[in-house]
Amino acid sequence: MNDPTSSKKKLEGKVAIISGGASGIGEATARHFADHGARAVVIADIHDERGCQGAASIGSRCRYIKCDVTDEQQVKSLVESTVQIYGQLDIMFSNAGIISTCEQNILDFDLIACDYLFAINVRGVAACVKHTARAMVKGGIRGSIVCTASVTATMGAGTKIDYTMSKHAVLGLVRSASKGLGEHGIRVNCVSPSAVATPLLCHEMDTTVEEVEKYFEPMTSLKGGVLKVRHVTDAVLFLASEDSAFVTGHNLIVDAYFVLHHGHEDGKNSANGM
Ligand code: NAD
Repeated sequence: MNDPTSSKKKLEGKVAIISGGASGIGEATARHFADHGARAVVIADIHDERGCQGAASIGSRCRYIKCDVTDEQQVKSLVESTVQIYGQLDIMFSNAGIISTCEQNILDFDLIACDYLFAINVRGVAACVKHTARAMVKGGIRGSIVCTASVTATMGAGTKIDYTMSKHAVLGLVRSASKGLGEHGIRVNCVSPSAVATPLLCHEMDTTVEEVEKYFEPMTSLKGGVLKVRHVTDAVLFLASEDSAFVTGHNLIVDAYFVLHHGHEDGKNSANGM
């Protein structure tokens, strides 16, 4: 274990890819990884302008590579280019995701919309895990793969059920991949935030960061604050770094004991627990 009094950077020399790194949790994690000494941070996203701006603002150790995670070939080439440029890949934060594009209750379940969401939230995450794992096994890297699930990975919801289903699938992927990759020394975990006021959630609720936080504050058991992106990035850093060297197959819930998640769900919630 690291000396708790040490201010040592936790990712010195590491090379990381962050899918969905142009915005929200991914963007903040890219910054956090760079602050913690990562040798290289690759932001992979489809949002070119934000991706390039984010990478430029982080500095020369960060670059943007366009990658649509729904296209397995693009994911394969993202991983291969990263290894070619930097010589190795130590960390994958498979984080790109979207929220349901319509109401999605079971009676009016739109399966086409569900397929679209699954292509990103499930297949896209699986493609990132697969190609990262292949590169790590080939390079003999005992790396860390972190996926973004959600509190909805372990709760039901009356609406946005495709999103809830997708996050359950991410948890299944993490648990299965951690078993398959353990013999190679590769760890696979996920982080499960409750609602955090990123562009995704502000857009979904059509309001400001302040209003989103005000809405969710009463729903956490732990009082005296609201869930911020930095709470999530700290959890991701823990799972990505040697601080969690003996942790794999784990779902790290970051929710200040979200009441809808822990036994008070009424089944009619609009799944804004995220
Ligand atoms: P965000 O919208 O701010 O960021 C998501 C990023 O993913 C965007 O930059 C977007 O361009 C990118 N993306 C979307 N489709 C893509 C694709 N096909 N290929 C590559 N990149 C793509 O959202 P966020 O809140 O930071 O969400 C990040 C992750 O966190 C998602 O998986 C989301 O489900 C999860 N999550 C969010 C919350 C929350 O309350 N915000 C809670 C729990 C889990």
